[in-house]
Amino acid sequence: MVLRADTSILIAGAGPVGLALALELARRGIRPRIVAETDGPVAENESRALGVNARTLMLLGPSGVAGDIRAQALPIEGLQLSSLGAPLLRIRTDRFRGPGPALSILPQGVTERLLLERLRAFEIEPEWHTRVNGVDGTPDAPEVTLVRNDDSGETVRPTILVGADGAHSMVRKACGFGFPGDALDNLFFLADYAYDAPVDATHGRVQFFNPGVLACIPVRANVLRYISTLPDYEDRIVHPRPNGEQRWRSQFTVSFRHVEAMSEGRVYLAGDAAHIHSPIGARGMNLGIEDACWLAWLIAEGREAEYSKLRLPAVRGVLRQTRMLTAMATMDQPASLALRNRILPLMAHLPFAERALVRRIAGMDTPHPPWLAAPQ
Ligand SMILES: Cc1cc2nc3c(=O)[nH]c(=O)nc-3n(C[C@H](O)[C@H](O)[C@H](O)COP(=O)(O)OP(=O)(O)OC[C@H]3O[C@@H](n4cnc5c(N)ncnc54)[C@H](O)[C@@H]3O)c2cc1C
Repeated sequence: MVLRADTSILIAGAGPVGLALALELARRGIRPRIVAETDGPVAENESRALGVNARTLMLLGPSGVAGDIRAQALPIEGLQLSSLGAPLLRIRTDRFRGPGPALSILPQGVTERLLLERLRAFEIEPEWHTRVNGVDGTPDAPEVTLVRNDDSGETVRPTILVGADGAHSMVRKACGFGFPGDALDNLFFLADYAYDAPVDATHGRVQFFNPGVLACIPVRANVLRYISTLPDYEDRIVHPRPNGEQRWRSQFTVSFRHVEAMSEGRVYLAGDAAHIHSPIGARGMNLGIEDACWLAWLIAEGREAEYSKLRLPAVRGVLRQTRMLTAMATMDQPASLALRNRILPLMAHLPFAERALVRRIAGMDTPHPPWLAAPQ
């Protein structure tokens, strides 16, 4: 590790990625400054990300956050796929052997609070209500304008600037990074329902309507999330208990984009600021936390110039995969639908194919983090 006492690091954004980066730096003795325009972590009942994969548990092991997550998360035993009520395939995620369950469920708001708690143990608190308003200077000497809610502001000149400021990243735009890719036409609908008693929270369920899909994912022991491409999805939900109460609804579109380089000069991008894709596969937050952990390690080693080269292959791989899964879920041509519904059941007879799929769900298809011992 090199001595970084002379390094000032500014992290824009205190979502899961900015918080993970700050924590991974702090536990290595490096104190970053972290700012966010919001007043705190995302509200627990408006959490986008739910799935925490095994790779993230591995990465957050040394900081203690993985243990905190496991103490509260729901491990997912499997995913059940069906077509018009007929079972197609059960993917047994409980067969995964690794640093925890392949996939656990914890609302993003809780994950953020757990990261924040561990960060506070290092006496680091994000500066809330503080917005990056622009970045001038050059990529080798960025000048960042910060504006607080009370309209006070300052210009800072960090040695390292990290944009972890989400999909609409000001850092990415102000520094002129391109963000090529495309958007899907489909609109996705989402609703969380709370029930008056625990429901089966051990499995995710995906129903194909040929065309159209309705997925059901546990959020908590008594809360389920429904995600669909069908505008009338609420009429199609079979609630496990009567009197489900809708707690949150939303709708979103999906784009597949990533920057061509994840850094330029002294400016680095991580998480949604650098890549966005469909939530199918539950990879976005996990991939961003992985960026954060790699970047912290590289900064501590004085090797941050290697960040983009090391991360881009993983980013490209995950985008390819989520694009394929999304195409499978949203296809609408009768011939493709028939082929999909014939092929999926065959996977139950191909143990190596199921193992490969579960490994991807666990996020173990990206390079092993070199600073952690290789799994036995
Ligand atoms: C419906 C849905 C379900 C999903 N499910 C999953 C899942 O199960 N698993 C998974 O891994 N991922 C999932 N994702 C993706 C996941 O939510 C994102 O990848 C994740 O939130 C990205 O984290 P981030 O920290 O990069 O950005 P964000 O969470 O967007 O955080 C950005 C931060 O930057 C701050 N900020 C923004 N602009 C500025 C500015 N100008 N100045 C200062 N601060 C700023 C914000 O206040 C915030 O603190 C899902 C997404 C959706 C839409």
